[in-house]
Amino acid sequence: MSDIRSIRELVADLAARKIGALELTDHFLARIDAHDTALNTLISRSAEPARARAGAIDNGEAAGASLAGLPIAHKDIFCTQGVRTSCGSRMLDNFVAPYDAGVVERLAGAGTVMLGKTNMDEFAMGSSNETSFYGPVRNPWNTEYVPGGSSGGSAAAVAAGLVPAATGTDTGGSIRQPAALCGVTGIKPTYGRVSRYGMIAFASSLDQGGCFARSAEDCAAVLQAMAGFDARDSTSVERAVPDYSDALAGQGDDFLKGMKIGLPREYFAEGLDAASRQVIDTAIAEFEARGAEIVEITLPHTDLAVSTYYVLAPAEASSNLARYDGVRYGYRCDDPVDLEDLYTRSRGEGFGREVQRRIMIGAYVLSAGYYDAYYLKAQKTRRLIAGDFIQAFEGVDLIAAPVTQAPAFKLGEKLDDPVSMYLNDVYTLPASLAGLPGMSVPAGFVDGLPVGLQLLAPWFEEARLLGAAHAYQQSTDWHTKRPAGFE
Ligand code: GLN
Repeated sequence: MSDIRSIRELVADLAARKIGALELTDHFLARIDAHDTALNTLISRSAEPARARAGAIDNGEAAGASLAGLPIAHKDIFCTQGVRTSCGSRMLDNFVAPYDAGVVERLAGAGTVMLGKTNMDEFAMGSSNETSFYGPVRNPWNTEYVPGGSSGGSAAAVAAGLVPAATGTDTGGSIRQPAALCGVTGIKPTYGRVSRYGMIAFASSLDQGGCFARSAEDCAAVLQAMAGFDARDSTSVERAVPDYSDALAGQGDDFLKGMKIGLPREYFAEGLDAASRQVIDTAIAEFEARGAEIVEITLPHTDLAVSTYYVLAPAEASSNLARYDGVRYGYRCDDPVDLEDLYTRSRGEGFGREVQRRIMIGAYVLSAGYYDAYYLKAQKTRRLIAGDFIQAFEGVDLIAAPVTQAPAFKLGEKLDDPVSMYLNDVYTLPASLAGLPGMSVPAGFVDGLPVGLQLLAPWFEEARLLGAAHAYQQSTDWHTKRPAGFE
């Protein structure tokens, strides 16, 4: 059975009973069995619950729901009732949430069948998926290379065809960057568009759920089911969700005609690998050929983004992760002699090195003597970075840029050099700091490794973003490629 069909086609075939939900679930479970030992994309598999659910769908459960019978995997940062939620950490290795995250609940309501929980950097801190307690994920395009992070398991699973779609979260690039490195389409919606309820917190003012799939059209279908107001998340925005799929289906060949696309000068400067740049230039030429008007823009505070983010995200993380104390849930050290020992050893043994580094940086920048110099300053530079985008979007409809400076790097290559790892995020952090929606769209290859094109839109303009990506995917086929050995 060929599963290289769009989600729209799969769902239509399921609804028409041309394929059974159980048959489709078994097909993907078999792919997971065959390939996941090599890739390590899943931390937990839920084959039996998935089969039971798919059987129930074949018997009429979720009939008429938008994604009835569609297999999916959730990043292991989303709480799932009854199935372990580890967040990639030893700290939560034994944690089974008593409830489903808002995103999980909505996607289940739309009729999806969860096959498992995807591997990720510990507490979503990383750009290579190497900080996971469960070992690194491998890039299906070349298993010596990283898949990107932190949602590396989700991106690699979709790239290898182990699931048609998967959820992810993006705090500073963790959907766009792994999507780019794995050659799949990924969307990070506007901050507030998707519920953070039950999504384990890393840096709450930045964390936002989104999804991966092969195409923009597939992402539209999944995002549709995920997006919307949730009163249980105080930063969720109460604003109607447009019909993304309808918008794509209804768009004519001239969708890009007259659209103004800005290329930020700062993203095409020193540091961008020449071969990747060529891929991006070719992609932009395609937009131009389809009628878009390309203009150069400037986002002058771009160079402040890495330092701003790596103050603010650790600050919020140090606060959010204070709850893991070995008392109520999560990892507890053996035989603590007193309370101090319980805290110290539970946290020392339960958290990995990168998480500990972030907690220390965060505690430092929030401390009484340094708050003004670091945290407060970073809040101000964050505002300047957002201001750049506000200004830029007065003149353009979309922004196009690279996602990363170069394609995937080798496993282990940057692991002992946190600064070089952090610099990997230069092109994704600014939009995160501004809370903007962004995508990565497959745009080509360099030495057999995928390159992604980043598209950014003004707040809540996901439909425009998806529409532009969809238009591009009508005349290119990068998103249809599958790595050798995973056909
Ligand atoms: N790579 C960034 C970090 O390590 C972003 C991670 C993310 O978006 N979750 O913090």
